[in-house]
Amino acid sequence: MKRACYRGERHILNKKIIITGISECLQKGKVLFLEALYPSRCPACNKILPEKKVHICPECRGSFHLIEEHYCLKCGKPVSETEEYCADCKSRKRGFCQGRGVFLYNMQMKQSLLRYKYYGSREYGQYYAEEICRYVGTQIKRWNPDILVPVPMTCRKKRIRGFNQAEDLAEKIGELLQIPVAAGLAVKKRETKSQKKLNAAERMRNLKDAFQITESVRGLRILIVDDVYTTGSTIETLAECLKESGAREIYFVTLCIGQL
Ligand SMILES: [Zn+2]
Ligand SMILES: [Zn+2]
Repeated sequence: MKRACYRGERHILNKKIIITGISECLQKGKVLFLEALYPSRCPACNKILPEKKVHICPECRGSFHLIEEHYCLKCGKPVSETEEYCADCKSRKRGFCQGRGVFLYNMQMKQSLLRYKYYGSREYGQYYAEEICRYVGTQIKRWNPDILVPVPMTCRKKRIRGFNQAEDLAEKIGELLQIPVAAGLAVKKRETKSQKKLNAAERMRNLKDAFQITESVRGLRILIVDDVYTTGSTIETLAECLKESGAREIYFVTLCIGQL
């Protein structure tokens, strides 16, 4: 009786091993099939990458302009060698403590982001997040944020685009640096008018009631994550909203940042 039971158990165990083996094979097959169907492409030249582990072709390394020195000590925008702060940060108080953008928002980066956001090249996200962590990971750790908050977009826009790029970056950075991501904490209730013709004060007014903070953030250090920083009004307004909801310190990180 005892022996029959043992045999039965072994039979079940063997069956389990076979089933696990089959499902692992199917999973691997699925990955290979998807890789063949949607091969990873280089975020700079968009050519198919030779292997899955590489996120940019070797010859394209260095094609995005890294901002490693001469940047505003407050917002991270490029400044001349002799300056410490950009014109915006010199002229008014900012809603955030400090922030950094990793690459310059130049034509190559604009095109890369267009493919990532609108033309299905979502695999670029892993490269972007890894570069952010490689170049400003130490700074992020120094800021020591409790949570990452991606800049939200309206539900409608997210549905049309299929994803929120800020959320995608925040999730990948959060995973790499082991920081929790609070994706639904800040929501955008309505679309805002084009910001281009508005001055700084008008921009902030235009955005302010569009954001809503859904949970208490009392006493928290928050790192806002976005893809691009240009005028800074979106991040600044979100920072103000988070501060009004009790956040202690607000920092930000973006993949790229515009020149003055
Ligand atoms: Zn390339
Ligand atoms: Zn600045």
